[in-house]
Amino acid sequence: MLMKSFATFNLSEEIEKALSGLQYKAPTTIQEKVIPVALQKKDIVGKSQTGSGKTAAFAIPICELVQWEENKPQALILTPTRELAAQVKDDVINIGRFKRIKATAIFGKQSYERQKLELKQKTHVVVGTPGRVLDHLQKGTLFVDHLKFLVIDEADEMLNMGFIEQVEAIIKELPEDRVTMLFSATLPEDIENLSVRYMKSPMYIHVEEAAKVSIDHFFINTEEEDKLPLLKDVTIVENPDSCIIFCKTQQGVDDLYRKLKKAHYSCDKLHGSMVQEDRFAVMEDFKQGKFRYLVATDIAARGIDVENISLVISFDVPQDKERYVHRIGRTGRAGKTGKAITFATSREENLVKEIEEYIGEEIKRIESPIHAEVARSKSAFEEKMNTKPLPKHDKAEQVNKDIVKLYFNGGKKKKLRAVDFVGTIAKIPGVTAEDIGIITIQENATYVDILNGKGPLVLAAMKDTTIKGKLLKVHVAR
Ligand code: AMP
Repeated sequence: MLMKSFATFNLSEEIEKALSGLQYKAPTTIQEKVIPVALQKKDIVGKSQTGSGKTAAFAIPICELVQWEENKPQALILTPTRELAAQVKDDVINIGRFKRIKATAIFGKQSYERQKLELKQKTHVVVGTPGRVLDHLQKGTLFVDHLKFLVIDEADEMLNMGFIEQVEAIIKELPEDRVTMLFSATLPEDIENLSVRYMKSPMYIHVEEAAKVSIDHFFINTEEEDKLPLLKDVTIVENPDSCIIFCKTQQGVDDLYRKLKKAHYSCDKLHGSMVQEDRFAVMEDFKQGKFRYLVATDIAARGIDVENISLVISFDVPQDKERYVHRIGRTGRAGKTGKAITFATSREENLVKEIEEYIGEEIKRIESPIHAEVARSKSAFEEKMNTKPLPKHDKAEQVNKDIVKLYFNGGKKKKLRAVDFVGTIAKIPGVTAEDIGIITIQENATYVDILNGKGPLVLAAMKDTTIKGKLLKVHVAR
């Protein structure tokens, strides 16, 4: 079979270089269909399974079409959770790395002032959650006159009751002459109809599992009070390297996490009432493979991309069938296999049936593991629990390998601007403006990405070179 290549899209060299660094050898089916249409600036409603490369499907054409010289935001991407906003921002930065695309994430529970300052600087792409985006729009700190693209990621979640008002209020503020793209793995018809209100004759791109994700689905009948011992037995027998356990409520997550911790599980937790820094730290550690079990609410169900999760356990049956699809979509990603096990009480078995019909695949009933099997598996389980997990590989390592982020101890307060840094650094012998990547100026600090392996050269030179007459402290950023 002839493999499609990214070359067929005539992307610029900088974008192609980043894709090859990310090891994206060929476009996935959704990318193959979306990229050419988006490059022609047509509206799109895109539906394709979890883990099928939707983010890059919109991020590649956006990075390609964004004009570097324009300082004001040209694309706005809305996501339902802060974790997803941060992840999509990273994806955009990686894909736009060599074009020096600046992406900024804005979401609640983070300093508004800092975001305001960031938005004042060159920003090509803004990724955010609806509440904070609207806040910035209303306060005039997010400038959208030059906006050309709007992406609503996880569109069904974004256009449902919880978010719709904010999303509509945001859309009202945006220029009408723009490209609008909607994506999700689940798009109920009424949402799809609703979405047409914001779009101009959109192209419907629905990818039906050509390359099927291989996830095996099971459920175990249990009583509420037997769930914990059942979970222990299942995890001992399955002994996954990396697993997410979904609970219905935050309280449920807290309780279960505490119990698993007490039983010496290599675990952590994630839910919406935690401090944002902790939420990010947990996700980062989980992505790096620093612990094996993540106990979470559905906040971790949408879009979160962690390599090699082999097992997803629904400790509680999801509240609706779409949630099930997103939960299990954390496993079986990018061509890998996965397993999903749901605990259901007798009263919940009808929900399992509904989900089964919805996904069009059997959710096979299995029995709880028998004692002999648990006993047999125990030593291997304990050994794994006492072994440090292998670090997971960072997919952007190759793209970022020749980049050094430098920290300077001066920013806005010292009246420094990006041009001051570019002007000074580009004058260093052997360095050009092309070697300078994203610059982020804060009140008292500035971060400058130096590309193409020139980091050490710039670092050495800047130790005794002044910027606007000021000698700043400089070192490699943490
Ligand atoms: P997404 O559905 O956007 O969350 O992407 C799922 C995973 O597939 C992510 O880890 C992406 O980095 C990866 N991915 C996206 N596009 C490609 C591609 N063309 N080739 C290989 N991996 C990809």
